[in-house]
Amino acid sequence: MDAADVDVLVLGPGSDLQAACGYDAHASERMTLLVVPRAGDPVMVVPELEEAAAATGAPGIPLRTFGESDDSALLAAELIGHHLGSGAIAVGDQLWSQFLLALQGHLPEAVWTRGSAVTRALRMVKDAAGVAGLRAAAAAIDAVHRQIPDLLVAGRTEREVGRDIDAAMRAAGHDAVDFVIVAGGPNGASPHHGISDRPLQAGEGIVIDIGGPVSGWFSDCTRNYVIGTPDEAYLTAFEVLQAAQRAAVEHVRPGVTAESVDAVARQHIEAAGYGAAFIHRTGHGIGLDVHEEPYITAGNDLILEPGMTFSVEPGIYLAGRFGMRIEDIVAVTDTGVERLNCTSTDLVSVEAGRS
Ligand code: ZN
Ligand code: ZN
Ligand code: ZN
Repeated sequence: MDAADVDVLVLGPGSDLQAACGYDAHASERMTLLVVPRAGDPVMVVPELEEAAAATGAPGIPLRTFGESDDSALLAAELIGHHLGSGAIAVGDQLWSQFLLALQGHLPEAVWTRGSAVTRALRMVKDAAGVAGLRAAAAAIDAVHRQIPDLLVAGRTEREVGRDIDAAMRAAGHDAVDFVIVAGGPNGASPHHGISDRPLQAGEGIVIDIGGPVSGWFSDCTRNYVIGTPDEAYLTAFEVLQAAQRAAVEHVRPGVTAESVDAVARQHIEAAGYGAAFIHRTGHGIGLDVHEEPYITAGNDLILEPGMTFSVEPGIYLAGRFGMRIEDIVAVTDTGVERLNCTSTDLVSVEAGRS
């Protein structure tokens, strides 16, 4: 906060609040706001009816409650105003505009800035507990991917398979299911497809990208399946993709830039003639959010440090034909890289003709 000349940091429900004090607050029209002054003790504004939940979720943080007809923004503005000097108020990037606008109404003279001015560097590098949380989440999603071959039968729809995956994710320890992508055949060419009522067909590649939080820490893993045998064009592209993904993972170590990881994957794919078919960045940071910094993309010259965690997920998408993506979560270690997902990246072929 000194470096960013911030007098007060305010955080609403979301991953910043969780990272700051552990409280996984319910986001609603009633204000929950952690007020962290540069000098002095933090205090959290919470609705009276959530006092017990907040006391359990954020032990040790003093609470200021408000009743149903009180002006919570006025209460918060008084707590913030008390600490204001010449510095700014940093507002968590995920705070709803209804709260920010109400605070601004009560503090018309204040200077405002994004909370990430303070939280970005803190959130981007995980401590050992954070990496362990992501490792456990990766193990949970690996266990789900190992069950997927049993779910894939020609004629079943993406939605039917998706429902089974949803249940398997919860059974494997996920707190919730954030997304389930089951994309068969041409649907695989749309990276964020989701699920549809299209039946799976033998010979088609199936992209399965699934993730959600496990004790707050996110999983996110993509593998590729086929019922029977795909055609030569698919297999040729898959070989290129697998080599590109492996090379990008192996490139990860402290001291290299985020964009260099993207470049390694992209060069492999471009050299094989699929450059135009790789239509997104190579990866995204992951932690208490499924997409967070650092972004593994051209133009990001951020130097990787031990404790940074992100996906490496190049893809090849040929509209109207097929798509494929291989995604692992990795952690930068003191000397190199740890792949947190432990299943093989090979194309998984399921016997055709089962029912
Ligand atoms: Zn995505
Ligand atoms: Zn991802
Ligand atoms: Zn994914």
